[in-house]
Amino acid sequence: MNVASFDIDHDRLLRGVYVSRKDYVGSETVTTFDVRIKKPNTEPPIEISAIHTLEHLLAVYLRSNESGIAEKIIYVGPMGCRTGMYIIVKGDMTSAEILPYIVSSFEFVRDFEGEVPAATSKECGNYKDHNLTFAKYEAEKYLSEVLHVIREENLVYPQ
Ligand SMILES: [Zn+2]
Repeated sequence: MNVASFDIDHDRLLRGVYVSRKDYVGSETVTTFDVRIKKPNTEPPIEISAIHTLEHLLAVYLRSNESGIAEKIIYVGPMGCRTGMYIIVKGDMTSAEILPYIVSSFEFVRDFEGEVPAATSKECGNYKDHNLTFAKYEAEKYLSEVLHVIREENLVYPQ
């Protein structure tokens, strides 16, 4: 089985937005994006509570009408290594095509005020484990240092 994200050299991987893999379900293509927020094994990973809040806010935003991509979103979730998120979409998409939606979703987190959505015991498996302040900090850092100054090497895996 080809798992592209394990084949890539994490020692050379930069922060960015990458196509992790494409899968084929019947006649449909499904694209998995590697939304890499931290340089692997180089800087501290995202705090557990902050990546949990990122997951809630990014999922709520991307599934909303406001995002403009709601009908294509299959899944939004954190990487176990806590250096990024996976976003899975319907269709064959490139990293450049998804980029504007990723930018607006992280701007949504950066600017978010109020209660973290779905952070109740009914809706979440660990509802007290959130940190909106750190999630907003990580969103601002990723936007200003990566997404707003994106380069080719932040959109294509190192070969
Ligand atoms: Zn949760």
